[in-house]
Amino acid sequence: MSISSLQILQNRISEAAVQCGRNPQSIKLIAVSKTHPVDAIRFFYDLGVRNFGENKVQELVDKWDTFSPSDLEWHMIGTLQTNKIKYLAKKVNWIHSIAKPEQLLELNKRLTKENRNCNVLIQVNISDEDQKSGCQSEQIPDFLKIATSLDRVVVRGFMGIASLEAEPESVRPQFKNLHQLLQMHKSNWNAPSIQLTELSMGMTNDLEVAIQEGATMIRVGTALFGNRNYLTK
Ligand SMILES: *Cc1c(COP(=O)(O)O)cnc(C)c1O
Repeated sequence: MSISSLQILQNRISEAAVQCGRNPQSIKLIAVSKTHPVDAIRFFYDLGVRNFGENKVQELVDKWDTFSPSDLEWHMIGTLQTNKIKYLAKKVNWIHSIAKPEQLLELNKRLTKENRNCNVLIQVNISDEDQKSGCQSEQIPDFLKIATSLDRVVVRGFMGIASLEAEPESVRPQFKNLHQLLQMHKSNWNAPSIQLTELSMGMTNDLEVAIQEGATMIRVGTALFGNRNYLTK
């Protein structure tokens, strides 16, 4: 964790974007701070990073309670249990991991109580590994049908986790697939609560490929914070 880890990452993002004719500003960096202390969040916040991602509800809540300047955006990116959405409604700005249609209704209900809004992404299983969560692409219309009636939740796009491969090039078809799904569903729905513009895909190992395939949000932990030590958490 250092200034240079952020600079090196920003260079990777810029180079990948420029190389495929995209504006680097069109790619939002989500700094994945899971397992790292609040001081690490504060460090990158002071360097201008404003989007942080966590994969556990309790950890996000604890960190929010300690450090939550008003211009910091919190992203829930981990597998979500519907009964824990109530803890997030007050704190989170984005949920990337909506994987069941009823989670949209639960979130909308809880947000109404808090008088807040939230952006969400539908997590789609793009890797065909069943240990990874996310809905099947055929289910997407079920989510969007429900979303048309929501007034606190805005569905902004899709999230995918590619399979872990030694060679990032080999996950390109998975990212391409998610992009195609976005194109396909984008113009089919006309409701203020459905604005399908975002693709959350790409992590430390495969972010260049993800950017080439249209990622608008990348979720990066290791390249910024270093390796995670789960033993000391
Ligand atoms: C941990 C995590 C990341 C970040 O992974 P790195 O390889 O450390 O960049 C991204 N997305 C999700 C859903 C994660 O759980």
